[in-house]
Amino acid sequence: MSIQRLSEEVASAIAAGEVIERPSSVVKELIENSLDADSNHIAITIEEGGHKRIEVTDDGIGISATDLPLSIERYATSKLSTIDDLQNIQTLGFRGEALSSIGAVAHLIITSRVDGEDTGAALQVDGGKVQPPRKAGCPVGTSVEVNDLFFNVPARKEFQKTATTEKRRITTLVSRYAFAYPDRAFSLIHNDRQVFQTSGNGNSQEVLAAILGTETARGMIPLQPGEGQIAAEGWISTPTVHRSSRRDLVFFVNGRWVQDTSLPAAVLQAYHSLLMVGRYPIVFIKLEMPPDAVDVNVHPAKTEVRFRSPDRIFSTVQRAVRATLLGQSPIPPSETSSMWTVGPLDRESEVWDPSWRAAMMTGQGVGKGAEPLQPALPAVEIPILRPVGQVGSTYIVAEGPDGVYLIDQHAAHERILFERMSADRAEGSLEVQRLLEPRVVECSPEEDQLVQEYLEVLQRLGFEIEGFGTRTYQIRSVPAITSQVDAESVFRSALRNIEEDESPFAEELESRLIARVCKRAAIRAGQLLSLEEQRQLVRDLERCTVPRTCPHGRPTMIHISVDSLERQFGRRG
Ligand code: ADP
Ligand code: MG
Repeated sequence: MSIQRLSEEVASAIAAGEVIERPSSVVKELIENSLDADSNHIAITIEEGGHKRIEVTDDGIGISATDLPLSIERYATSKLSTIDDLQNIQTLGFRGEALSSIGAVAHLIITSRVDGEDTGAALQVDGGKVQPPRKAGCPVGTSVEVNDLFFNVPARKEFQKTATTEKRRITTLVSRYAFAYPDRAFSLIHNDRQVFQTSGNGNSQEVLAAILGTETARGMIPLQPGEGQIAAEGWISTPTVHRSSRRDLVFFVNGRWVQDTSLPAAVLQAYHSLLMVGRYPIVFIKLEMPPDAVDVNVHPAKTEVRFRSPDRIFSTVQRAVRATLLGQSPIPPSETSSMWTVGPLDRESEVWDPSWRAAMMTGQGVGKGAEPLQPALPAVEIPILRPVGQVGSTYIVAEGPDGVYLIDQHAAHERILFERMSADRAEGSLEVQRLLEPRVVECSPEEDQLVQEYLEVLQRLGFEIEGFGTRTYQIRSVPAITSQVDAESVFRSALRNIEEDESPFAEELESRLIARVCKRAAIRAGQLLSLEEQRQLVRDLERCTVPRTCPHGRPTMIHISVDSLERQFGRRG
């Protein structure tokens, strides 16, 4: 075949694919437009995961009837005019590609009115064919309706994910923007049902509770604001709250949700040794920096960015997270440690050297060759403790470098067993349940692709699968933890989840483990322990990764600081 120019229609469908990959990319572009238009209310309505219909309505500045036809032209934008502006982008959009791309691959209707005009206007584009504009009665603001996405791009339509997957992606997307813009009211409706809603009252903690649920949100702490040119603000989880994937490591840069690999790495480094292997924190961080410190014009979807000084951003984020985690520690700064003799257990006294702590807080590192921000002992670990006895056959009284500790012996033992059993699990693979009769499952093309792509992961999870004809498989075994559930539906749900999370059963596994730990925990309240047994328990607890809480999240210990003892005995001020 000789070289030919692509027809306008094919060319624009290809270009559209760069910006609009799936329903959630449409929602993202439309939300960004509404935010750029200074809207206070942004209502998103979707049907069938957005495949069938997406509508985003806002009360922003609107588009005038004369500008309306321009809005759907490629590279037409009100947000940028000269090449220099590219260095100083303050809006989320700037490429002028979104509406034209959507119009090229769907039935698009834009209805809008600006303040000061008595009527609005509407414009429809069907797979790139622009219909004549018409007058329309509507409130000030803009409403964009997208029907039958990819109706004219069969290849793309074929590869779309299920409505459930897409609905989840859109929910994630909307909730993230709602977090980043707590002063705007967001609402998401799927198939006539309210999925998510925020009030727009500016309270980001409230939004967080709506996203994560109140229980999880309670385990989040505000990020200590960093200093300098790069401002970081947000919420991070305490080490007792964690996830099985990196999905909840969320970053906004200058109001834009970015997917960058260095930012999660900075966070994970800050959490280093505070979380069990394979567990990830929940982090929502907003970074603000001068527009010229970041290049957002890297990819048409604008989710990739390039930082001018990536190292500085990395250390700012890592430092802020680390300082927050340390600051949250219930161990007070140890200027009183000299008064409290720790006796023969003082083997790691350098840990309590105030200069060491101070250095940690500023991330400067101490002494020669000391690695900054990589402390030997993170603050959520417990100090070396010396048991002095038992109270009510239930609590162990122990002395530490900074006061008295009361340890709940049962909760402590649960924590120890839990970590031991998790470690055993991590080493081997999951227990497998063989099916009495192999189950034959016919997959959709999309599922079939997932099976091939993730065969290894599926096997690691405990699925023994064999090809059995076109897009058909024989399942011989399933993960034992799911053995009460129908094998076919377990398999399908694993396929659906596997893409976003390579250990879809981690949570089930964990709760099973917790239940088992509770049954087995040998040491109960009311049980007399010898001093040697107390010592062993405390030593085992010291070695835990997350020693301060039992697997249910209850505290394993209470700390009474030297400071508070002295105050209560009137030895001070
Ligand atoms: P970009 O956002 O990069 O400028 P778009 O194709 O997304 O490109 O939008 C084109 C133009 O249409 C925008 O520059 C803006 O002027 C106008 N526009 C789009 N959506 C809205 C909206 N919700 N409210 C007001 N104006 C809008
Ligand atoms: Mg835009």
